[in-house]
Amino acid sequence: MKDLTQCVMTPEVKTDGYEALGVATHRASTIVFKDAEAYATRGQRGHEGYTYGLYGTPTTRTLEAKLTALEQGVRTFLVPSGQAANAVAILSLLKAGDRILIADTSYPPVRDFANRDLVRFGVEVAYYDPTSVEDVAARIDDRTKIVWCESPGSTTMEIQDLPAIAEIAHRHGALVGCDNTWATPLNYKPLTLGADIVTEALTKYMSGHSDLLMGSITVRSEDMITPIRATLGRFGIGVSPDDATLVLRGMETLGVRIQHAANGAAKLIAWIERHPLVKRVLFPSLPGSPGHDLWKRDFLGVSGVFSVVLEPEAVPHAAAALDVLRTIAIGASWGGTRSLIAPMPVRQNRSASAWAGDDLVLRISVGLEDPADLQADIEALFADITSRASASKAACAS
Ligand SMILES: *Cc1c(COP(=O)(O)O)cnc(C)c1O
Repeated sequence: MKDLTQCVMTPEVKTDGYEALGVATHRASTIVFKDAEAYATRGQRGHEGYTYGLYGTPTTRTLEAKLTALEQGVRTFLVPSGQAANAVAILSLLKAGDRILIADTSYPPVRDFANRDLVRFGVEVAYYDPTSVEDVAARIDDRTKIVWCESPGSTTMEIQDLPAIAEIAHRHGALVGCDNTWATPLNYKPLTLGADIVTEALTKYMSGHSDLLMGSITVRSEDMITPIRATLGRFGIGVSPDDATLVLRGMETLGVRIQHAANGAAKLIAWIERHPLVKRVLFPSLPGSPGHDLWKRDFLGVSGVFSVVLEPEAVPHAAAALDVLRTIAIGASWGGTRSLIAPMPVRQNRSASAWAGDDLVLRISVGLEDPADLQADIEALFADITSRASASKAACAS
């Protein structure tokens, strides 16, 4: 072969005896076939076969297999973000004329997707109170094909009675989907409690370093594999093997990272709860947090994300006071090494359940720093809120 050809061809090297612990990054668009017959019959390779980079490489399949085992499902699909996981799972399984029931505490972009895209495609969208099994029973009908859950709910942390909701849904012929991003499969296994589909934003704890976006869809039964796989193929949705390698690496430390975050959250909450500016902390392991008994029954632990409901006099000053923070960064998302805080609006998302409190809640994700530095930061934050509140009171009085 000439030099130019040698540059293009891949020489064979010995791989037997090469047993590394890390997972190799297999990048591919094209998959080549050993002969014309193999190419002609590539469609018969089945879900596990390799035919084109979009449909999987050994790297993405390794991550999928790891997730399938942890979720106790039959198959996992990787998609480019947690939001894509929710949207694709729902879109694959609905058609015009169907109806979906969504917990009104779901991740807000899911509501946006439902209200805009599903409605545009002729799907009827309805919301239910995540804390009320009776509300699900009252709103479900035989056109309802999916009941969508997220437990705990985004920001306000309501734990849902998944087995009871699944029993009602299945009686009406509906599937149950559950966004499991907060707990991760280490702390909650929705497929063992009645859900048919579980989604994860791998972006958060699973990858764990705030440097990539990915999502997963894991299903409980074989009959959901074909519709989801077909939708992914037709929409051209796949993930980068490089990112899959990073998620695989991140997952090796998931257990210790989540445990550290959970311990840090517990320490911080014990102090925050007693502060006079704080009305309550929403965190499933706290007695009094919505659905605490269900959490005790169904969950294996907590992560490090919780929400702080402030007293009314603190609310107007909370967002501006965030500027004093030194360790905790201001930002959305969570589950990385760095602690994050974000003021979250709550009331605008409620359409089926009541939210009695003020519209703003502070959501905190505890990272891997020393909790003492986080507490010092929150102390400074509360001191700044206090001084802003008394300055504005003085201004009003004069
Ligand atoms: C962040 C998040 C998502 C979306 O994940 P992305 O990868 O950022 O799209 C979905 N569900 C929940 C509960 C989340 O917190």
